[in-house]
Amino acid sequence: MNEYITFTIPKQKTIALIAHDGKKQELIEWCDTNRDVLSKHFLCGTGTTARLIAEKTGLPVKAYNSGPLGGDQQIGAKIVEGTINFIVFFSDPLAAQPHDPDVKALLRIAQVYDIPIANNKATADFMINSALMEKEYEHAVINFNKNIRDRVENKKQFIK
Ligand code: PGA
Repeated sequence: MNEYITFTIPKQKTIALIAHDGKKQELIEWCDTNRDVLSKHFLCGTGTTARLIAEKTGLPVKAYNSGPLGGDQQIGAKIVEGTINFIVFFSDPLAAQPHDPDVKALLRIAQVYDIPIANNKATADFMINSALMEKEYEHAVINFNKNIRDRVENKKQFIK
């Protein structure tokens, strides 16, 4: 069994939009500027961010829970399930967040599953203007079936 398996980020991506309070205005404006590209994809986001973007831009954005109430974790779970495959997350580097562990967990799981994730406007601009936005993208993701099988085999010897 291979260590990695090939996953496909489809042409029509499912994009999660998240912004901390100090960055919500910036993300709303970014969504407005990029509305033509964004409207070709499925959009979702944490509760407050998603609702504000939908209201201010008219784009349809599915809302999960508010970030501090588990929204980041919901988005992380969807990455694991393979249903969210692109993230724009304007985090605020100058403000402490009550849900900092959830934020870290989301960044980590996006890294594990090789999901494109923009943490600031410049990265988001480069990503949204990439030719890959219009294409399928194949990438190598850790083979979790093999990973679990190996872990079970390795642990068995220590268990009575
Ligand atoms: P919010 O959550 O969209 O509900 O404000 C974002 C966050 O702070 O994680």
